[in-house]
Amino acid sequence: MVIIVTGVSGSGKTTVGTLLSQKTHLPFFDADDFHPSANVKKMTQGIPLDDSDRMPWLENLASHITEWEKGGGAILACSALKEAYRQMLTVDKNITWIHLKGEKPILEERLQKRENHYMNPGLLDSQLDTWEEPEYGIHVDISRSPEEISKDILTQLNIKHMKSKLGIIGMGVMGKSLALNFVDNGIGLSVFNRTVPGKEEKVATSFAEQNKDFPLLKGFDDMDEFLESLETPKKILLMIPAGEAVDAQLDQLSEHLTGGDIVIDGGNSFFEESNRRVETMRAKGIHFMPMGVSGGEEGARKGPSLMPSGNQEAFSQVEPFLQKIAAKDKNGDACMTYVGPDGSGHFIKMVHNSIEYGEMQAIAEAVHLLRFGLKLSPPEISRILRSWVNDDLKSYLLEITADIYQAKEGDNFLVDLILDAAGQKGTGGWSLSTALKHHVPYSPLAEAVVARQLSSRKSERTELSKIFGHRFRAFGEDKVLLMERIKNAYALCRIINHETGYSLMKEVSDANNWNLNFSEISRIWTNGCIIRSSLMEQLIQVFDETDSLFKHKKTVSKIKELKTDLTFIVGLGLQHEFAIPVMSSAANYLFGRIIEDSSANILQAQRDYFGAHQYQRKDDPSRNYHHTDWLFLKKQSPK
Ligand code: NAP
Repeated sequence: MVIIVTGVSGSGKTTVGTLLSQKTHLPFFDADDFHPSANVKKMTQGIPLDDSDRMPWLENLASHITEWEKGGGAILACSALKEAYRQMLTVDKNITWIHLKGEKPILEERLQKRENHYMNPGLLDSQLDTWEEPEYGIHVDISRSPEEISKDILTQLNIKHMKSKLGIIGMGVMGKSLALNFVDNGIGLSVFNRTVPGKEEKVATSFAEQNKDFPLLKGFDDMDEFLESLETPKKILLMIPAGEAVDAQLDQLSEHLTGGDIVIDGGNSFFEESNRRVETMRAKGIHFMPMGVSGGEEGARKGPSLMPSGNQEAFSQVEPFLQKIAAKDKNGDACMTYVGPDGSGHFIKMVHNSIEYGEMQAIAEAVHLLRFGLKLSPPEISRILRSWVNDDLKSYLLEITADIYQAKEGDNFLVDLILDAAGQKGTGGWSLSTALKHHVPYSPLAEAVVARQLSSRKSERTELSKIFGHRFRAFGEDKVLLMERIKNAYALCRIINHETGYSLMKEVSDANNWNLNFSEISRIWTNGCIIRSSLMEQLIQVFDETDSLFKHKKTVSKIKELKTDLTFIVGLGLQHEFAIPVMSSAANYLFGRIIEDSSANILQAQRDYFGAHQYQRKDDPSRNYHHTDWLFLKKQSPK
């Protein structure tokens, strides 16, 4: 929706346009800002512009209007006095013209009051002479207050009956937050939620009603009306639970959608199911885009990290909207990129969540050691975590953990009142099965999932801790030194967690010929998402130079510097009977990956001994398979 507010100088285009922008959340532009400098100079000197001066200006404006329309719309203040000028700007059928009209004395009075404006009041007569009053558009008398004028225009615009750019199905936590983000960015939006009689009724219409400040938001409880309210081709974002709900929703939509319509699945669907859905929807002529969304409720409202994939042609149609609502990186670019074909967007979101699991568990382990190994109080831990953030370990998850350790309820620290039983679903477990399927070592991040499973067995743990008389013990050593070593152990664990996740991404990308760009993936994860961190900022460069953190020269030096602290803390923690699965697994994973001579020769000998599975030999460069008669050798060997 592009609204062009026209009128001679002094008619209030900027004031009314700005008010309309505030009310609709469409961005406001002043056509004067698009004049070439030669025109500005002429106008400042009081020299009227001729049509040859205006041509490049109007052409420039026309191309911007096209872009604004693609991105959801805009409000433009532009004198556009002659019909020929207006025709040049009518690049789209969705343009609405607002013509501000007023008597000469009112215009003169307003112009005389202006300060710091390059328009010479003497030019008013020539503008009034030039104005060719159109018969179309909304004509508004400017003698009223700007507030009254804009209210009148909004009523006449009848936004409720205009088609929406986009629709969202699923008004849960994420759907609602994303909806407000879209309309806050001036993107006309229709929202729909299913009706479950007696339980979930009028969810979408009530939501729109509660958010009347956003006139571009329209709620529907009826699917036909919802679909009817969308522009063609229809663009629909699903924010519903993964699995059967998505298939059922797609089946229902398929009956109503036509070729070229676009459905985006923004939920946490399993990527292999998304791969299948891209194909089934393609066969129906419908563009399907699996899209990872990260940032939780707050990110969805203020700017999430977005990972769209699937149909690239469809992506180009929704790209301007996604650009607007996404978080921005440190250079102001959207934390959103076309990830790749098929369900690659859901795949990287799955790995993102897996790294998130690993990071949460690693922080929990470090904090547990600080609290019960070093006997530090929650406020002390909060201060330590903030100092880590301020040093070189900045991350969203560390920051929120520092906040958590400050939160009190009465005399109690809230964290102490929270039951130590965490669940795991979807993305955590799927990452593990995907890693197994693709033969990718995944132990540190797998341990984070297993740790949650163990935690959820609270009553069994309580029973067993009594049977074993288990109790972790405090470390009786130098606290200051140990604090530093725990920090270093966590710092290395974090590098290893990321290497584990990225190695899975590389393997699956290669297997599917997705050609994923890991530097770009790191960039879109630097803001808006849960695993944003200073390390993620560094990974943009790391994956520009190499395909593994373990092959990156600077990171290798860092790992060498930190590994003694990781092994020391793992040893100390285990000796004092703490469960630190991700930290200990990270150390094992590191050594497992960098050790040249592993213990697997013994496994191969055992397999050949009991099952004649054969083995390859170090002294056979052609790597042929060999079998040994182990029982014969046993007889031959000295006792
Ligand atoms: P939510 O609050 O539980 O909302 C789910 C929405 O889906 C509700 O509007 C619900 O409607 C609707 N729904 C449930 N079953 C449905 C069905 N069978 N058919 C149609 N609609 C159905 O969930 P959410 O947190 O917004 O998450 C939505 C999706 O985003 C999920 O896939 C989730 O994994 C993913 N996600 C969540 C987060 C997060 O931090 N929460 C972050 C990224 C991605 P009713 O109100 O009628 O039940």
